Amino acid sequence: MKTEDRRQKSEVRPKKALGQHFLTDQNIAKKIVDQLSPDVETVIEVGAGTGVLTQYMVDDILDKFHVIEIDRESIEYLKSHFPQLGDHLIQGDFLRTDLSQFGQGNMAIIGNFPYNISSQIFFQVLKYKEQVVEVVGMVQKEMAERMAAKEGSKTYGILSVLMQAWYDIDYLFTVHENVFNPPPKVKSAVIKMRRNAVTDLGCDEKLFVSIVKQSFNQRRKTMRNSLRPMLNPDIIDNEIFNKRPEQLSVQEFIDLTNLIGTSASHDEQ
Ligand code: SAH
Repeated sequence: MKTEDRRQKSEVRPKKALGQHFLTDQNIAKKIVDQLSPDVETVIEVGAGTGVLTQYMVDDILDKFHVIEIDRESIEYLKSHFPQLGDHLIQGDFLRTDLSQFGQGNMAIIGNFPYNISSQIFFQVLKYKEQVVEVVGMVQKEMAERMAAKEGSKTYGILSVLMQAWYDIDYLFTVHENVFNPPPKVKSAVIKMRRNAVTDLGCDEKLFVSIVKQSFNQRRKTMRNSLRPMLNPDIIDNEIFNKRPEQLSVQEFIDLTNLIGTSASHDEQ
């Protein structure tokens, strides 16, 4: 029986608070799973719901495959329809899951993500960036655009910079709302992220994150105005601070972090 048929007979009712929008198009489901690179050592599916993606992985890659789903009803459904998952099916919150329990090998994260927490999912990925070499995920279209946006674009923001510092990000394709049950109010898109070769940003990482966040929190202001409290007189006239955050590339944010990090006032703070 195909998942589509199963879903109609299922008692699993979508729960809005959990971002449950079940994909009903088998071709799209397959196309998403096909994006996974075969060389990864561990694959984690986030939020399997009724298993529309799961069904294309469970038999082929079971030994390296784990599902994390928060919803008890979905867990029961998955247990009965994919008994072969066994203890590869974990009831839990992906945002609170210690990913190191799955070993230190290269890991891929895949899912039709709950959109209400997709930023947090990406921050969780960042936390495990030493392990997570790939992410294939469906998110809200605007989120996908923001993740892949380059400097100069008006959607370029905090997540673009923080994720692109460590990942190459491709916007793969757009997905229409009517292939979900229930249809979300927004369009969706599938993105693929691959870990780049960077092992060290070449600057103080914590300061980098805080500078990126502070700059974009007031994105229409110049960098000088947004960052003024951390700028010492010796650097405050530097022309880079005339720019607005969306004009700066990832590398320029790194250079700026070093400029601020080595300036006198910052050392004194
Ligand atoms: N992959 C399925 C379901 C997508 S809906 C499909 O494409 O049809 C998003 C799923 O994520 C839901 O099943 C929801 O219960 C689950 N979910 C929501 N928050 C979660 C969290 N914090 N951790 C793990 N799963 C979560």
